[in-house]
Amino acid sequence: PSALREVMIEVPNVRWEDIGGLENVKQALKEAVEWPLKYPKAFQRLGVNPPKGILLYGPPGTGKTLLAKAVANESEANFIGIRGPEVLSKWVGESEKRVREIFRKARQAAPTVIFIDEIDSIAPMRGAMEGERVTDRLINQLLTEMDGIEENSGVVVIAATNRPDILDPALLRPGRFDRLILVPAPDEKARLEILKVHTRNVPLAKDVDLKELAKKTQGYSGADLEALVREAALTALRRSVVSKKELEELSEEFLENLYVTKKDFEEAMKKIK
Ligand code: ATP
Repeated sequence: PSALREVMIEVPNVRWEDIGGLENVKQALKEAVEWPLKYPKAFQRLGVNPPKGILLYGPPGTGKTLLAKAVANESEANFIGIRGPEVLSKWVGESEKRVREIFRKARQAAPTVIFIDEIDSIAPMRGAMEGERVTDRLINQLLTEMDGIEENSGVVVIAATNRPDILDPALLRPGRFDRLILVPAPDEKARLEILKVHTRNVPLAKDVDLKELAKKTQGYSGADLEALVREAALTALRRSVVSKKELEELSEEFLENLYVTKKDFEEAMKKIK
């Protein structure tokens, strides 16, 4: 059964500079997660208890997962990432067992960031949904584990949701997910930063103006912008390939003339969003 799948510990390679915009959020995570994990003694000395749980909320594709990975990496911590729906098991007791296993592994590998994506799927208001039995037990297990995290044990839980309004309020009590951080849709300035991140290794033609592109992509999330850059690059390739032979030979000259143009971005915008 899926609930018994091994809990995977990873060391993500996402850095702060891979995330465009969200400067306030990055700063909040540095203070709430990175500092306590890296300098626990300073917090002990000051008598400050760092948060055990942080809830990132906001629209889809705005970088919540990316932030959790970056803060783990930058804190030199291990990372255990799970998606809410994935721990739900129809087998009695399996879901709770998996949650216990996740926290056990996390303590063992501390410092560890546990990331629970789509937490609303396992922790909607009790009794609010069908199949409530499974989620009730699961929330209780999660709360037990959170309450059991000892101060300065090097385990932090970050959860993410697009629907903070449907979460079980018990999760948000002090000592649990008591730090709520909004991860907003990117404004024009943030879109420019995100476009810069995703075009870092893309040869752009001189006519490409990322500032203008940031202006024209209102309503695009970070994920949409990443998809836009990818689509524009593919459009450039399609446009540049006159014959199949050319692609197979891939001459230096062909490669050197391969650029992504303003037109390619315009074409891509028709497809993405
Ligand atoms: P969901 O709510 O759908 O789980 P999310 O908020 O967790 O989404 P991510 O999975 O972090 O979003 O983002 C998806 C992809 O979009 C990332 O892998 C990244 O390439 C891109 N992306 C999103 N936001 C940003 C950002 N602020 N800077 C750079 N890339 C971003």
